[in-house]
Amino acid sequence: MIIKDVTVIDGTGGVPRAGMDVIIADGRFADIRPSSAGISSTPAGEPVLDGRGGYLLPGLWESHTHLRDYGVSLPEPERFAHLQDVLAGYLGEGITSVCDLGGMPELSPELRDASKADTAVASLFTTEAVFTGIDGWPVTGLLGNRSGVMEVGSADDARRYLQGLPLDEVDFVKCMFDGKAGGGQRLPRAALEVIITAAHEAGKKVLVHIATGTDMREAVEAGADCIEHSPIPRDPRDLSEVDELARIMADAGTLYCPTIATWEQLAYGAYPDYLDQLITDGILTPDGAKEIMARPTYGQPFPKHPAEECRIRFDYAMRTLPLFHEAGVKIVAGSDIARVMPTPARALLRELQLFAKAGVPNSAVIAAATSRAAEKVGKEATMGTVTVGSVADAVLLDADPLADVSHLIDQRHVRAVVSSGHIAHR
Ligand SMILES: [Zn+2]
Repeated sequence: MIIKDVTVIDGTGGVPRAGMDVIIADGRFADIRPSSAGISSTPAGEPVLDGRGGYLLPGLWESHTHLRDYGVSLPEPERFAHLQDVLAGYLGEGITSVCDLGGMPELSPELRDASKADTAVASLFTTEAVFTGIDGWPVTGLLGNRSGVMEVGSADDARRYLQGLPLDEVDFVKCMFDGKAGGGQRLPRAALEVIITAAHEAGKKVLVHIATGTDMREAVEAGADCIEHSPIPRDPRDLSEVDELARIMADAGTLYCPTIATWEQLAYGAYPDYLDQLITDGILTPDGAKEIMARPTYGQPFPKHPAEECRIRFDYAMRTLPLFHEAGVKIVAGSDIARVMPTPARALLRELQLFAKAGVPNSAVIAAATSRAAEKVGKEATMGTVTVGSVADAVLLDADPLADVSHLIDQRHVRAVVSSGHIAHR
C-alpha cells in the first residue's frame, strides 16, 4: 500500500514532515520518502491512499484498561465474541493496540492471540502475572474473588509464585503496590523487588499500580518500568512532593500513566454537569448521555475510591501533569475504566483531551498514546511510531492533531485507520 503526499507525525515527538510518500509492505512501514522524489511506478493492484492535506500518525494505544469490565455480566460462551467486538470498536476509533492490565485470566491468552492475527480488531496485550498483597486490592472490594491475582505476603511467597509462572508467555507483569506499608494488604517492598528482578531477567516490563507518593517513590526505587495512576497527594496545596517524584522518575526513566479520566469519572460521574461537559467536548452525544444514565452502575460509588478523594486526586493530577512533563518524565496514556463513557475507546480519547487541557504540549500528548505506550510494554523497537520497519498501524486524519488534539477525538476527521498494513476503516 502507498499513502501519497501526506504529512507524517511519527509519534516520537519530533517535527512533522510534510509531502511524504509512505510505502507499506508485509504489514510494516517499508519506506518513507519525499513525494517530490517521485515513485517511478506504482505496482498494479497496489492500494493507494491519497494523503494530500492529511496527517498520518501511529495508531493510538489504550495502555491501561480492564476488558473484564465489558464482559463480566455475559455468560462465558458469549464473552469471547463480545470482547472481540469491543476490540473492533477500539480499532474503529483509531486505537490499534490495547493493554489489559489484568482481571480476566480465563480469556486473556486466547483473546490476545486471536486479536494479533486479526487486522479487523485492535491488538491486545495481556498478562496472567498480577501480584498484590494478602487480601490486597482488588481482591477485596472489587473482584469479590481471588482468580487471576497472586496474593504475596513475603519475598519468599513471590519466589514461589514466580517458579510456577511462564513469564515468557505474558506481555508484561502487573503489581499492585497499594495499602499501608507493612499492613498486610500492600505487597511487601522486598517482594516487589524480587518480582521486578525476575521479570526483567525474562525481558518483561513491570507496571506498578500505586496510591500515594510514598508508594510511587518506593516503586521507582525498586525498578518499576511504569507507574500506574497519579498519587493521592500528601497535601493538595503542596507541589513539592511532585518536584521530588518527578526528579527521581526522570532520572530513572520511569514512565508515568496517570489515568486522569478515571479520577474524573469517579469524582464527577454522578453529576449531570459532567455529562454536559463531555457533550461540549465532543466525547459524548445527548443520546449517549441518556444511555449512560440508564446503566445500573450509574451514580453508584466505586469500591475503595470515595468521590471526594478522587476529586482531590483529579485536581492534583491536572495541576501537576505539566510539572512531570517539564521535568522530563515520559507520560503514557491509559484510561483504566469507562464507567461513565459511551464506549471504552472514548475513555482513552478523554484521557488525551485531559492531558491537553492540563497543559501538556500536543506533540507529547500524541507521543503518550503512541511511542510511549509501545515502550511501556517493551515494543518500542517495532510499534508505536511511523518509522521504517515499524508495524504499519496508523491513523490518517484530514486535520492536524498537533494544532488541536480534538481532531483525533472528532471521528469526522478520520479518513482511514490502518491495522498491520491493512485499511481497517475509512
Ligand atoms: Zn487498572
